[in-house]
Amino acid sequence: MRNDLPPRPTGAVRTRLLSVIGVAVVGVVTGSLLIWHAQLGDMLGLAADKEPVVSSVSAPAVGAPPATNLATTTPTRRPTHSPSTPSATPTTPKPPKKTVHKPTREESIDGLSPKLKGRLTKAIAAAKAAGVTIRITSARRSAAKQQRLLNEAIKKYGSYKLATRWVLPPKYSAHVLGKAVDIGPAAAMTWLNRNGWRYGVCRRYDNEPWHFEALTAPGTKCPPREPHAVAKAD
Ligand SMILES: [Zn+2]
Repeated sequence: MRNDLPPRPTGAVRTRLLSVIGVAVVGVVTGSLLIWHAQLGDMLGLAADKEPVVSSVSAPAVGAPPATNLATTTPTRRPTHSPSTPSATPTTPKPPKKTVHKPTREESIDGLSPKLKGRLTKAIAAAKAAGVTIRITSARRSAAKQQRLLNEAIKKYGSYKLATRWVLPPKYSAHVLGKAVDIGPAAAMTWLNRNGWRYGVCRRYDNEPWHFEALTAPGTKCPPREPHAVAKAD
């Protein structure tokens, strides 16, 4: 009896085991198929996502599809919210997105003479405190760059004499010496024209509202403006 009984349960166990194994195998196979499908879907999805991103970057005026906009805006919102981690919020003030334009050496005050650089630094800080951003468009220029600008001006204005009202030859240019700065935008020009004398920085020419030099002692009146630049006789 004891010998007869075991086969029945083992047979039942075998069938159960087989069915369990079968189910497991089917499960694994279907699971792997699902994963494979999902991966394939991801690959296709990624491939489909890449195209609108590139097109929206290269041609922003066309208008990207709304689905990709949602997809791109959702992940950026997640880290900025994060109310559960208050310490992470002040450390991530999202500054890198605004720094699109990297200033060149000509657009920085680094190449300016120590006198103009020091005065301009103070003026820029004071303007900022007053809510005005002074942007350097051109400070120190190489002689080669100055010559290029002059050549372009001669083509534009038709003669050397007229061109030098706007662009002096390298050997006479205050920009080449690091003693002149061009700024923008218009609000900054207006502010520095009004307040530059406090820092010894003055607008020099009537025809160039963007051009400033260190023409007076800080806190004293700027000299009268000149109508335009004049190239000295060679
Ligand atoms: Zn200038």
